[in-house]
Amino acid sequence: MSDKGKNETSSHTSLNFIEEIIREDLHNNRNDGRIHTRFPPEPNGYLHIGHAKSICLNFGLAKKYGGKCNLRFDDTNPMTESVEYVDSIKEDVRWLGFDWEEREFYASDYFHALFDFAIGLIKKGKAYVCEMSGEEIANTRGTPTRPGKESPWRNRPVKENLELFNKMRDGEFPGGTKVLRAKIDMSSPNMHMRDPVMYRILHAPHHRTENKWCIYPTYDWTHGQSDYIENITHSICTLEFEVHRPLYDWFLDVLEITENRPRQIEFARLNLTYTVMSKRKLLELVENKIVNGWDDPRMPTISGLRRRGYSPESIRTFSEKVGVAKRENIIDVALLEHCCREHLNKIASRAMVVMNPVKLIIDNYPDDKTEEMAGKINPEDPDTLLRIIPFTKTLYIERDDFMEDPPKKFFRLSPGKEVRLKYAYIIKCESVVKDHETGKITEIHCTYDPGSRSGQDISNKKVKGTIHWVSVDHAVKLEARLYDRLFKTENPDIVEEGKDFKSNLDPDSLKIVEAFGEPSVKDFTTGSKVQFERNGYYSVDPDSTNEHKIFNRTVTLRDSWAKVLKKMNKQA
Ligand code: ATP
Ligand code: MG
Repeated sequence: MSDKGKNETSSHTSLNFIEEIIREDLHNNRNDGRIHTRFPPEPNGYLHIGHAKSICLNFGLAKKYGGKCNLRFDDTNPMTESVEYVDSIKEDVRWLGFDWEEREFYASDYFHALFDFAIGLIKKGKAYVCEMSGEEIANTRGTPTRPGKESPWRNRPVKENLELFNKMRDGEFPGGTKVLRAKIDMSSPNMHMRDPVMYRILHAPHHRTENKWCIYPTYDWTHGQSDYIENITHSICTLEFEVHRPLYDWFLDVLEITENRPRQIEFARLNLTYTVMSKRKLLELVENKIVNGWDDPRMPTISGLRRRGYSPESIRTFSEKVGVAKRENIIDVALLEHCCREHLNKIASRAMVVMNPVKLIIDNYPDDKTEEMAGKINPEDPDTLLRIIPFTKTLYIERDDFMEDPPKKFFRLSPGKEVRLKYAYIIKCESVVKDHETGKITEIHCTYDPGSRSGQDISNKKVKGTIHWVSVDHAVKLEARLYDRLFKTENPDIVEEGKDFKSNLDPDSLKIVEAFGEPSVKDFTTGSKVQFERNGYYSVDPDSTNEHKIFNRTVTLRDSWAKVLKKMNKQA
């Protein structure tokens, strides 16, 4: 079985390995039985579905085990961070259904504490001011198999280091001219231990501390100490930080922190097929206007998924189903779509909407008559109310639901054949009218059986097909934005030489059509979830108005994950 399958099934049957660790710690009364996690985004972009996984994990574990989860902005790089990103992150975490209460923290709140810690390191001879350029530092780091070269500034006296570091903070040096480095081991097999940079000079205003600082701590220097300051018990992070762990431990050792050390646990980041997840690449799509902003419904961002019509519940379910893995893997995006369908099926109202209309005329139906047909707003809801759907002589049906010369298994409408019009009558196709020049069908003529009305059917007829329809006179015009996956290849990062991930974009990821809906579609407002029957789930776009309704297609009704599951069950 593939990794996908394993993850999907294992989360139902056993605790994930992180929960096992937490239970063990609780059992041993580690940290006096406290559980305290955090979600630590860097506010340099909008959150994506991978972050959602981390949010659900961190907040979810805290909830499940009676602990707390902090929201902490890792805001150590003023060049790429902004308040817009901070605000969007807060909105997204809240929308997903999680609450950090009063625990909204910023690494920048700890700049003073970190500075004092750094002074402590310098005093112990464990950090020094280095004057090599970034490039020189990179060039002297060596390789995993070849030791690095020691900096000529490595053995400066403590006093000089203290003086220089203070001057760095006081803004006496231009950006990039000096850094503070930890003095560890230039020949360590772990590259992260080769005198890593702790501070760099950046004469740039910060969105919170403004011009107070012109030296900024690096992520590595900030992260572990921030966890410690916040009394975090379990620092859950992605696999790439496993190799940073010895460094974080070294910092805590040198600072002589022995109690309440956060326990770092790594898990594999979420990767999805047909999706890029790196913030840098997502930013590139936004900046190059390949998509319409971070919340474009094709983006894997939380705001994009929200606009597309995903519910927070479905994202939480998805996160639960993928579980946590210790090895890198890639999850089929069809699973996410499946979780979405399952939830929308339960909550979405139903409506009939014709996307690609052709006129259908019921020749034996009275010209001026309108009947009120009734449909359940949501058949999945036992308390559902009914909606009224006007029925008249002239209707729109989908062009695809008619074939003049159908293959054997076509159960929809064709000459001489019968189908049911959903919630209404059984009709029979008698003839078609075509455009003389193009040959395109312009009208389908039918007769109906008055005794076959849905719910009161005395016709004794059995028909195989049911199709949807909209009364032409009552049709509400709407804009349907048919979104598809943004990329056409399963792994968009695999590219031909000389090309980048953008070469795998699907040019047909958005099609806009004018569609015709039953009157109830007028009542849906921004964010409303609707199943266009026989078609897919849709959500009203924020740009929609009463005069111009816009519906975003969230997912079609075709569930390819259900097929995968079926196959897996067969194999099992
Ligand atoms: P990206 O690689 O997309 O830029 P990042 O790790 O730089 O992401 P951060 O803002 O630092 O973004 O991430 C905040 C938290 O979310 C971190 O704890 C990180 O481990 C976690 N995270 C980021 N991407 C994923 C992912 N794909 N799956 C699971 N967790 C993730
Ligand atoms: Mg990061």
